[in-house]
Amino acid sequence: KLRNTNEPEFLQAVHEVAETVIPFIEDNHKYKDKMLLERMVEPERTLMFRVPWLDDKGKIQVNRGYRIEFNSAIGPYKGGLRFHPSVNISILKFLGFEQVFKNSLTTLPMGGGKGGSDFNPKGKSDNEVMKFCQAFMSELFRHIGENTDVPAGDIGVGGREIGFLFGQYKKLRNEFTGVLTGKGMSFGGSLIRPEATGYGTVYFAENMLKTQNKSIKGKIVLVSGSGNVAQYACEKATQLGAKVVTMSDSSGYIYDEDGIDAHKLAFIMELKNVKRGRIDEYLKKYPTAKFYKDEKPWTIKCDIAMPCATQNELNEENAKTLIKNGCFCVCEGANMPSTAEAIRVFQAAKILFSPGKASNAGGVSVSGLEMSQNSLRYNWTNDKVDTKLHEIMNDIHDVCVTYGKDEDGYVDYVKGANIAGFVKVADAMLGQGVV
Ligand code: NDP
Repeated sequence: KLRNTNEPEFLQAVHEVAETVIPFIEDNHKYKDKMLLERMVEPERTLMFRVPWLDDKGKIQVNRGYRIEFNSAIGPYKGGLRFHPSVNISILKFLGFEQVFKNSLTTLPMGGGKGGSDFNPKGKSDNEVMKFCQAFMSELFRHIGENTDVPAGDIGVGGREIGFLFGQYKKLRNEFTGVLTGKGMSFGGSLIRPEATGYGTVYFAENMLKTQNKSIKGKIVLVSGSGNVAQYACEKATQLGAKVVTMSDSSGYIYDEDGIDAHKLAFIMELKNVKRGRIDEYLKKYPTAKFYKDEKPWTIKCDIAMPCATQNELNEENAKTLIKNGCFCVCEGANMPSTAEAIRVFQAAKILFSPGKASNAGGVSVSGLEMSQNSLRYNWTNDKVDTKLHEIMNDIHDVCVTYGKDEDGYVDYVKGANIAGFVKVADAMLGQGVV
């Protein structure tokens, strides 16, 4: 703690893991006194660098770039890049730390890492985004590689940015390798990668509901965010018969009582991915919907909540309101969207609650499958990747139940995910000695 006093998000993420993993270590002789958690909370390497670039007016802009190479015990560092003005060491360390456990849960051979920049893509032209990505990669390229560290997207980094980053890496290294995931289909991308995190979150929710003999069909779902994860969570939930009634962005949320069906979602995808507009523009096309400026959707009555925007977007008060309104399942699509206090409220009420590191692991899982396809120089079909994604999410759910089921039968998915994620990494670290 003394080393990380200015890193509240990182401390929050570590605290949540420590609460469940320390008692497990104490009870298991094999892991005791090996300083495993102490080693795991210290990144193997933290890179911080200057990113100077020229904007459209010919003016020099300077941003800060980061890559946190957190843990490589079970595979190359793997995790997304985030471009958002709020990016700092604390946020990237929390994301990198969670990524270690998440990647372990996927059963694929991937270590954990995270990176990004305080660059704000909002309001920038395609040319400026490209210039920035090229400048960012001009330093990052010397630290990454298909067998070393394989970044992907996250907030503010989608297909467009990954394409620009990949182009610059290829130019500098003079090699075509699977060094980034989330690539375009014409240059090594995997089918289902764009959909994977959102779809995986819904597959995980289905599994949780099944433990109570329920299904997602006919349920009212709140989704927050309107980016990559939110869009595909909405798509899959709707395909499976649920009614998604909210989506949001940093300006507020829309509430459509009739449900955001496939047509309406197509409008949102065009608005967000192509026009890069704001969510309230939904009302121009669908005037019966409502827009709530600067608010979050958690006061709307629902069965299931899927926070898919960003960290700490759902607090204790929101959690109490959700429960009061009858919500019985919260499945995180974003990373750490619920505060520690909110999680305590969900667990005290014994509702179904899954932490992002379990329920949003579908994205990195298909990234792992993209790496495999790149190594094979081969593309798997849509069905094959979706089936594998489904299997992985089922397996993650089952291992959470194995480690998280309490004596009274309640499944503590936080405990389950943390312990299951810890065991594989800890075993690998023990096997490799004090490194
Ligand atoms: P996108 O950039 O595609 O979308 C992010 C969405 O969240 C946007 O609607 C954005 O609104 C909103 N948002 C971002 N920051 C804030 C904020 N501070 N306050 C309110 N709203 C905000 O990102 P993704 O969909 O890829 O990521 C969403 C979450 O899912 C993140 O927590 C990410 O770490 C996590 N995640 C993503 C994975 C992936 O494969 N993409 C994999 C696993 C986890 P606005 O446009 O107004 O900023």
